[in-house]
Amino acid sequence: MAKILVTGGAGFIGGYLCRRLLAEGAEVVVVDDLSSGKADNVPAEAHFVRGSVLDPGLMAAVSVGIDLCYHLAAVASVQRCNADLVASHQTNMAGFVGLIELLASSPDVPLVYASSAAVYGASQELPLGEQLRVEPLSPYGADKRGCELHARAAFEVYGLASTGLRFFNVYGPGQDPHSPYSGVISRFADRIAAGKPLTIFGDGRQTRDFVFVGDVVEALIRAGRDPAKSAEVFNVCTGREVSILELADTMQTASGIDREIELAEALKGEVRRSCGDTSALEQRFGLRPTTTLAEGLLGLRG
Ligand code: NAD
Repeated sequence: MAKILVTGGAGFIGGYLCRRLLAEGAEVVVVDDLSSGKADNVPAEAHFVRGSVLDPGLMAAVSVGIDLCYHLAAVASVQRCNADLVASHQTNMAGFVGLIELLASSPDVPLVYASSAAVYGASQELPLGEQLRVEPLSPYGADKRGCELHARAAFEVYGLASTGLRFFNVYGPGQDPHSPYSGVISRFADRIAAGKPLTIFGDGRQTRDFVFVGDVVEALIRAGRDPAKSAEVFNVCTGREVSILELADTMQTASGIDREIELAEALKGEVRRSCGDTSALEQRFGLRPTTTLAEGLLGLRG
């Protein structure tokens, strides 16, 4: 039975990943400090260790005998990173560098880690492809890019191969709608259900590539099954560009309820357009995320 370490396994995406790994017969060890995740997201069959990826002793102990490591732990909100720069940098980059140091002594353990479309930042050559020169616009994006660069350096220096997955805007049931840092889809769903207006930051013409959490988990699973030979990086996206106004409209139509839309001041560090190229993921893992927004939104209502 494969023993798999999942950092951030109590988070939104991590909880889905753990359930899938357990269903496939793996032994799952989760490390999460519950700073944004919930213990309830960790399946009872997983071995849950509450603690930080910044604790080297704890990380060394949980890594003994692992066959694969998924690193998802992060301060996953652009706004929270803006507001808490040093602490978020510690987790988002120093935490990753610590993990590399740990895994460098056993470079046969494959590493799959969460990067983000936020690395593209000011790059506006759509669809965004992995070969583009990236220009992060936020501390969060800068740290995710830093992780990719450290992953590359770790391959050169220690022979540690890794797969970085640049998730675009992930959504699905179970995303916390109550946090001010939640994704726009869970916030809209919550406002529609509560009979409140939908708040859009900026003019609503900014675009995103929304990818369903089930497709993201599939990408994680395939990357774990077919480990990298070097420091590889792939987009996980749909290749469909959706404006926030269009999203509000689609969600209102899906729910059959119309809510007023109010525009608020644009957020700092927000990218204007985002839509990823799916071809590298498809070529490498035979996977193209196919869940449409309409299909994925149905899951939110369930
Ligand atoms: P999440 O906040 O639900 O999960 C992150 C988890 O990491 C949480 O459970 C949190 O408690 C944990 N964590 C934070 N700091 C920690 C630390 N120091 N030690 C141990 N655990 C810690 O976010 P998510 O949406 O599930 O994101 C998972 C990963 O995917 C993150 O790396 C995030 O940056 C990345 N990502 C997410 C999206 C998205 O749209 N959700 C998009 C791009 C990238």
